[in-house]
Amino acid sequence: MPLHSNALLRQDADLTALNTFGVSAKARYFCSVSSLGDLQAALRDPRVRSLPVLVLGGGSNVLLTRDFPGLVLHVRLLGKRQIDDAGATASFEAAAGENWHEFVLWTLAQGYSGLENLSLIPGLVGASPIQNIGAYGVEMKDHFIALDAYDLRRNMVVQFGPSQCEFGYRDSVFKRGAAGRYFILAVRFRLPRAGALRLDYGEIRAELARSGIGSPSACDVSAAVCNIRRRKLPDPALLGNAGSFFKNPIVSTERANELTTRFAAMPHYAAGSGRTKLAAGWLIEQAGWKGKRIGNAGVHAEHALVLVNHGGASGAEILALARQIQDAVQEQFGVELEPEPVIL
Ligand SMILES: Cc1cc2nc3c(=O)[nH]c(=O)nc-3n(C[C@H](O)[C@H](O)[C@H](O)COP(=O)(O)OP(=O)(O)OC[C@H]3O[C@@H](n4cnc5c(N)ncnc54)[C@H](O)[C@@H]3O)c2cc1C
Repeated sequence: MPLHSNALLRQDADLTALNTFGVSAKARYFCSVSSLGDLQAALRDPRVRSLPVLVLGGGSNVLLTRDFPGLVLHVRLLGKRQIDDAGATASFEAAAGENWHEFVLWTLAQGYSGLENLSLIPGLVGASPIQNIGAYGVEMKDHFIALDAYDLRRNMVVQFGPSQCEFGYRDSVFKRGAAGRYFILAVRFRLPRAGALRLDYGEIRAELARSGIGSPSACDVSAAVCNIRRRKLPDPALLGNAGSFFKNPIVSTERANELTTRFAAMPHYAAGSGRTKLAAGWLIEQAGWKGKRIGNAGVHAEHALVLVNHGGASGAEILALARQIQDAVQEQFGVELEPEPVIL
């Protein structure tokens, strides 16, 4: 017998504890989705049929600027498994509600590498394709095979391969044309048994050397990444934040050259096809915003890229601060900063 939808939906649910900024906002209707059946039953409820839908994972990449006037579907689907063993590689599947970091640790414990540089990224597996999460020179797309998603418009399960996801830098089709249309149910990855380790980004080598590790394993790299991240990034449990608030802007190399003649110290990295990536954190710091506070919203004192809730900030306050930073960087450098979190 199908679950009665009324039992699934809660009204006026508080979302404060479900977003890492810790801003207070309510959902008109809320449903914890632990199975495809839950999802279908919730969507059939006549009270929500014509309302907007928001899929919420760990809430670590959203900025809620007001109450959500529709149905919030909280991702709680669990389960992970190895699908096959092809000798040098194997494929794995995780349900959307699995904690990303615990999934990474589990694949490492099975003897497979590839995801170690993505250790300790907050959030759930189901959100990992949305912005093609990345850190320390690795992106999830490097190991992605496919995902299953529920098409909220056509009410059916569909599959996406890598090309259909249109992955880019902190980007995918799910942030653009397909935004809000799909509920990702499960994600599959192919991982090598003894893949080449990526040690050249950030401080990974220095961190390994500090721990006296000369020839590291993938688990050592994961531990090093965790140490660096714990040292560098504010813990959302203590100081509300969503990690980097802005993407590193990518401009034409011609434009970057103009800027480097004016600002010799400006960090810049080749991004291929005549494009150059700039460091958003540096631009924000130069514009004088590092460590600034306006009301209860602020810019982290050590990370100009991280906006924080000092306590009691509303989403609208944080957004207003972000806009002021965007304007200041635009004025000083003529560069547009694009927010990384999804703003609602
Ligand atoms: C301290 C900190 C550090 C961070 N560091 C990094 C980093 O190094 N690299 C990086 O890439 N990101 C980083 N992030 C951002 C964030 O952790 C990732 O974007 C993560 O994937 C978000 O997962 P989530 O489950 O919290 O998604 P949410 O914040 O809940 O959702 C984000 C978006 O995905 C959608 N979504 C979520 N789940 C699903 C689903 N199952 N189906 C369809 N849509 C869905 C939501 O609707 C929303 O649009 C960091 C965040 C914090 C707080």
